[in-house]
Amino acid sequence: MLFTTLGETEEIGASCHYVQMDRTGILLDAGADPEKEGQESLPDLQRVVRHPDWPVDHVIVTHAHHDHLGALPMVARQFPHARVHMTSATRQLADILLPASARLQRRRVEEGSTAVDPLFDEDDVEASSYVYQAHPLEDEFDLSGLKATFDLTAEFFDAGHVLGSLGVLIRWEENNRTRSLFYTGDTGGQNQTIIPGAVYPDEKVDILILESTLGADPVAETVTRRSEENRLGESMARVLSRGGSVLLPVFALGRGQEILALIDRYKKRSLIDEDIPVYTAGMMRAISDTYDKTRFATPRLNEDFQVFGVPQGRLPRSQSATNEMLKKPCILAVGSGMMFERTISNRIAMELVEDEKHGVFLVGFAREDSPAARLAEARAQGIGTEVVLSPSRGAQPVRCEVDRFRFSGHSNRRELLGLVDHFQPETVVLVHGEAKAKAWMAENIRFFHPEVTVHVPGPKDVLEL
Ligand SMILES: [Zn+2]
Ligand SMILES: [Zn+2]
Repeated sequence: MLFTTLGETEEIGASCHYVQMDRTGILLDAGADPEKEGQESLPDLQRVVRHPDWPVDHVIVTHAHHDHLGALPMVARQFPHARVHMTSATRQLADILLPASARLQRRRVEEGSTAVDPLFDEDDVEASSYVYQAHPLEDEFDLSGLKATFDLTAEFFDAGHVLGSLGVLIRWEENNRTRSLFYTGDTGGQNQTIIPGAVYPDEKVDILILESTLGADPVAETVTRRSEENRLGESMARVLSRGGSVLLPVFALGRGQEILALIDRYKKRSLIDEDIPVYTAGMMRAISDTYDKTRFATPRLNEDFQVFGVPQGRLPRSQSATNEMLKKPCILAVGSGMMFERTISNRIAMELVEDEKHGVFLVGFAREDSPAARLAEARAQGIGTEVVLSPSRGAQPVRCEVDRFRFSGHSNRRELLGLVDHFQPETVVLVHGEAKAKAWMAENIRFFHPEVTVHVPGPKDVLEL
């Protein structure tokens, strides 16, 4: 079997891997880097195109986060005969997220905030969406390529990360024996507030392709969800009771809905006053609607819970109306989670950070170089330390409360190591993590499982497994 990564290998960006077995070629994920634009944001599909003996028969999309899905229209255009597989929930989310991505690319050109041409428009998205095939969890389907000599099969398992997320088990024949691989995509081992933790097949696999997002986070493994839940509730109550507002930068898919479920819990327990207004915005609301519509058909901890059952207002569009709103204590759960420039959370943060009564609480993963991580770092160095959230605004002193809470939809690094115990693979390929995250993972897997071969593929490495 052949493996190579077409996206980022040194950080968390575009997730896209090419694997080939028995002359069947499969792309695992079709992600784009959320912080880059145009061709630069895409995985290097040309590396596959340049090899006439590297067919692409199938594409498997593990979930609808941009770093796993965002390049799909380009992948579908480049490999029009490839069949694209995902869960039904991911398909519904893709129908929201990909057109939104097309609109955002066009709007940036119209506003003059970029000179980079849009990669695709809404018509491209519409045209390619008809070939996406949805499969139920734990229901084996055929994954053979045109030139396969034996049957290849795939089976989806719930990855516990966000609505619709899957890990995939692929089985094939090689040299007269059955071989298997499991690709985790992004994985969450523990119950969140809305969705339950991952459910994996009880079987040994030959090759485990493992995400490493939290591999460099020593704190995540030392806290429990319950203790973080209490700490966040108390921190929010403290800020609100002194007349401040709370900004929770969230991913529009996943963390956003989960945090609303938590706010609901705080209000029901009277930790937070029921009358404190909660504001949400943009695409997160459309995604919440999909969470609600799919609640009987996808894994849930409580299928009666509805995200829109939590009272919430739509964030006003104009800056003056937003400023008016911020005069009274409120909770804002808005994207993006890493507070990238030109997003709502970035804009609101610039209004809040200089006033010590407010709080900005990070509740998801923040990449090292992201504005969210820079803000947390500045505040940790002492009150009044300056940060640049957006070059248009320049340096601002950070006086508000800033804190980080471990609610990530990702397994912590001990749980990731637990997957190696679970699957007992001969080979582990570490992907989707910063270099130091993968280094920690590799060192620990080698220590606890000296019998396992660990690969940390660099850019353009082609592994024969
Ligand atoms: Zn994800
Ligand atoms: Zn990811």
